[in-house]
Amino acid sequence: CGIVGYIGHQPTAPLLLEGLARLEHRGYDSAGIAVLGSGEGRLRVAKRAGRVRELDGAIAPRYAGRIGIGHTRWATHGPATDANAHPHLDATGRVAVVHNGIIDNASVLREKLIAEGVELASDTDSEVLAHLVARSDAETLEEKVTQALSHVEGTWGLAVLHADFPDRIVAARNGSPLLVGVGEKEMHVASDLAAIVRYTTTVAHLEDGELATVTASGFTTFRADLTRTASVATTLDVDP
Ligand code: GLU
Repeated sequence: CGIVGYIGHQPTAPLLLEGLARLEHRGYDSAGIAVLGSGEGRLRVAKRAGRVRELDGAIAPRYAGRIGIGHTRWATHGPATDANAHPHLDATGRVAVVHNGIIDNASVLREKLIAEGVELASDTDSEVLAHLVARSDAETLEEKVTQALSHVEGTWGLAVLHADFPDRIVAARNGSPLLVGVGEKEMHVASDLAAIVRYTTTVAHLEDGELATVTASGFTTFRADLTRTASVATTLDVDP
C-alpha cells in the first residue's frame, strides 16, 4: 500500500515512521520498517499488524541507522498479522524488501523456494522477492534485483535494502507508483509524494519497468537489462 525509504545523514527510524504516518489516509492494516544500523552491517526490523503509532512504541532509540525502508500494508495475500507485515526478510536476514502490488505467480515461486529448502516466514506473495534477491549469485545489488524480478509476474512498487550494500536502496516500479525524492546529501523513496513532501518537492517518478539506485548523494535509473534511462528530477510546485 505505502512505501517510504531514506538514505542520508539523519536518524532514519523516526523519519520513516513520520512518512508512514503521512500515508495513513490511504488505509492500511500493518506497518513496518527495516533500518541498517550504522557500522554494524545488520538489519533491524520492527513490523506488526496495527497502527503506525503502535509500531512507534515498539522501536528502540537504538535504531540509529542512516538508511532504511518502511511500509504500510493493505493485505492481498495472507491476513493482517505481524509475520505478514512488511518489510520481508530472506532467511539470512541480510535482505529486506517492501512491496506494493501483487505477485501473480507467487504460489509457484513459493513452492519452488520450499522445494529448495527455504523456510518461508509469511503467507504473503511479497516475501518471495526477498528470497529471490538473496539467492541471486549476481555481483551487484542492481543485478540481483533485476534477476529476481525476471522470475516474477505481477505488479510492483518496491524498495530493497541489502546489508552487503549499505550505501544504496534499489527501487523498482511496474504498475504501482514509486518516486525518488532529492534532498541535500540525502535521498528519499516513496510511493506517494505525501510521505516525503515535508523534506523535498524535487522528485523523479519512475516509469513502469524502470528501476533506480538511490544513494545519499543522488540516483540513477535503469531498465531490467541494466541500460541507463534518462529520468530527471523536477521540482514540483506544491505547498508542503
Ligand atoms: N500483496 C502484498 C501483501 O499482501 C502487498 C500488499 C500492499 O500493496 O500493501 O502483502
